[in-house]
Amino acid sequence: MKILIIEDEHKTGDYLQKGLGEAGFVVDLARNGLDGLHLATSEPYDLIILDVMLPDLNGWQILETLRHQGQQMPLLFLTAKDSVEDRVRGLELGADDYLIKPFAFSELLARVRTLLRRGTVQAPSNILEVADLILNLPRRRASRAGEHIHLTNKEFVLLELLMRRRGEVLPRSLIASLVWDMNFDSDTNVIDVAIRRLRVKIDDGFELKLIKTIRGMGYTLDTSND
Ligand code: CA
Repeated sequence: MKILIIEDEHKTGDYLQKGLGEAGFVVDLARNGLDGLHLATSEPYDLIILDVMLPDLNGWQILETLRHQGQQMPLLFLTAKDSVEDRVRGLELGADDYLIKPFAFSELLARVRTLLRRGTVQAPSNILEVADLILNLPRRRASRAGEHIHLTNKEFVLLELLMRRRGEVLPRSLIASLVWDMNFDSDTNVIDVAIRRLRVKIDDGFELKLIKTIRGMGYTLDTSND
């Protein structure tokens, strides 16, 4: 498995290259955006780990160029940028996962392995549909059975995540890091509360409940009726 790291901080880049190399991956390292894009388009990589703030070309531009060219390798953003807007932008452009700096190497490795298992991704769609639930990303609109649903910004991001990964059980820790930029703390019930609110908006009054709790594991959104 071949991984490309695009990271301008020398220490972080070296540390990642060494760690992933020791974990058995073949690792290339680019220290600026142009070199990174050049490598990404000239060599086949199974995964790219990408910083956002980079000299020459930033991570968004690289991601956009790659996806525009139809390159569908999984892409993990490594970033100090942590606002919801950045996250939403990344998801819309087709990033597969985020890790906020500073991070634990063990967590990075776990994310890398998960992404590699999932393999190449489909081009991101601007309109997500699961049963009669529709999320229109450019218009920031959600509807079910044709009825508009008002969502807060967080709820929108949460629903987008659940819909993009329909059928996949999402652990609370992953939801916490992707939607709230929190490290998972088992005492917090922020996620459960948000899911409960989202459920009321999405599923109340419908026979088919889309959001499901998988006991001891997390949440999933799918169309199974059980
Ligand atoms: Ca940087």
